Amino acid sequence: MKIPRIPRPEIGSISLSAIVALYLLLATNSSFWAHASVYFVHARTSLLAFAAALYLALFAILTPLSVKYLMKPALVILILVSATAAYFADTFGIIIDRDMIGNAAVTTQAEASHLLTFSLARHLLVYAVLPSILIVWVRVRHRRFLPKAAVNFAFVSVSLLVGAGLIYANFATVAYALREHTDLMKRFNPSGPLIATVRYGLSTYRERNLVVRPLGTDAHQGARVAAAGKPVVVVVVAGETARAMNFSLNGYERETNPELKALGVVNYRNTTSCGTATAVSLPCMFSVYPRSQYSDWKARSTENLVNVLTHAGVSVSWWDNNTGSKGIADLISFASQTGRKNSPLCNNGECLDEILLGDLDRKLGAAISNSVIVLHQLGSHGPSYYLRYPAAFRRFTPDCRTPELMRCSTAELVNAYDNTILYTDHILASVARLLEKHQDRIAGAMIYMSDHGESLGENGLYLHGAPYVIAPKEQTQVPFIAWFSEPYQAAMGVDAGCLAKDADKPKSHDNLFHTVLGMMDVETRVYNRDLDAFAACTRPANKEHQPAPGYHAAQNGEPESSAPAARRKRDGRPAFCDFPLCLSHGRAVDLHQIW
Ligand SMILES: [Zn+2]
Repeated sequence: MKIPRIPRPEIGSISLSAIVALYLLLATNSSFWAHASVYFVHARTSLLAFAAALYLALFAILTPLSVKYLMKPALVILILVSATAAYFADTFGIIIDRDMIGNAAVTTQAEASHLLTFSLARHLLVYAVLPSILIVWVRVRHRRFLPKAAVNFAFVSVSLLVGAGLIYANFATVAYALREHTDLMKRFNPSGPLIATVRYGLSTYRERNLVVRPLGTDAHQGARVAAAGKPVVVVVVAGETARAMNFSLNGYERETNPELKALGVVNYRNTTSCGTATAVSLPCMFSVYPRSQYSDWKARSTENLVNVLTHAGVSVSWWDNNTGSKGIADLISFASQTGRKNSPLCNNGECLDEILLGDLDRKLGAAISNSVIVLHQLGSHGPSYYLRYPAAFRRFTPDCRTPELMRCSTAELVNAYDNTILYTDHILASVARLLEKHQDRIAGAMIYMSDHGESLGENGLYLHGAPYVIAPKEQTQVPFIAWFSEPYQAAMGVDAGCLAKDADKPKSHDNLFHTVLGMMDVETRVYNRDLDAFAACTRPANKEHQPAPGYHAAQNGEPESSAPAARRKRDGRPAFCDFPLCLSHGRAVDLHQIW
């Protein structure tokens, strides 16, 4: 029997452009329209005019693409980009801006795999694959070149003129809405994610010949450290995705900090982050620039906290259980834990944060010099919260046990998230206990800050990475905790009781750079005592250091040294590291031998 062939329908190229423009506008922009309807709540007519103008603009962009061999691939790519961005916008409330593209570009396979879910596949099948099959299937009628150019030109001109007329007639309302709500056009598909990708590409291109300026080359350690009589060791725990409000130390009704509470830590209840994603916050935390002056470019072209510590002769190492140091630790000893094989704490390229503790114990037991150890933990990184804690810390149940957060109730989601905080409580307390265990031979202290918070469904938002101007406090209020051993307090003149009384004052990521320098008693003209969170409760040494005039020049991005600027490769990739063997500065280093 002969199978009847379904004839391929024919369509004109202009008509296909018109249909696809309508599809993109209506089927892949529900997040955009939800926000637009709120921002234009008292101006429905203007919203309709704005929508019509957007449609005409989309049509005017698609029409010139309606050239044989170019049209179908271009339309399929635009639909795929729009449908993918729409899925993340609709599911997690996120905006695909330049920083989000940056996050995606530097993510690890393990991290990305949590977002590649069955829901995403189903969404793409319905909203991208099926319409694409239709586009590939239909036969498109094209005019000959010259008539086509003339007709396309006519359609594009009329569309742009009418669109401009509509905007002109509603200019005041539309301009006001776009100026007040800068997030709106970033939400529009496909232009939002495409413009973000181009902006990210341009900034990466600019960085190819980045010159990194030295910072704090005058740094040296002061009298307190010299008189300590034993190595001073500060552990900086750079946290991940922990929000302040879920810490019982900050008044959360659930007991999520039983171990830290028992230890007696200094807890700052009002601390704000520099950004809402690791790729922004982490470099900012270690940068000399306060948030008000910070930019990605400045951070990448200026040395950071770990370099200043190195200039002062402090031994600095970065142990990473996350997605790398984002360039911060390019010139210091860097060790990634995530590739560690044969450990019961690791699975599929990700490890529980306890992986950091065994090596810390060994390192502290063998410490012979003043050191700063940065532990970059995995903390509460979503959406697979349930993978961040072992069974012993599965205390709040039922907990959400899938990365597809929509399948879980809010209570299950919060339970899983709170278990991650409970586990971070254990990790931080364990770090402090290890410093205490070795206090006969070292004077140790710990400082912990999370890089940003997390949304757990409040106002329809999930995860993090919201543009800072509209980011909710769930994403910008972070925990900031410190602990000091007895020998450290005695040697460095820090009064933990005084600090506890001072802990209600607002703090931010701006404080980390100067506070860690203060903790190691590093004297340099880039140190600003006013931003050292502990300075007010630290007994002055014999010679009190005040910021020198050069400080402000350095803060404003001026090179603070006449030394030749170091040219450094910054390709975004961390140094190769198969723990404990690291490739540092091009040569293999066995960390165990160093310890
Ligand atoms: Zn983060």
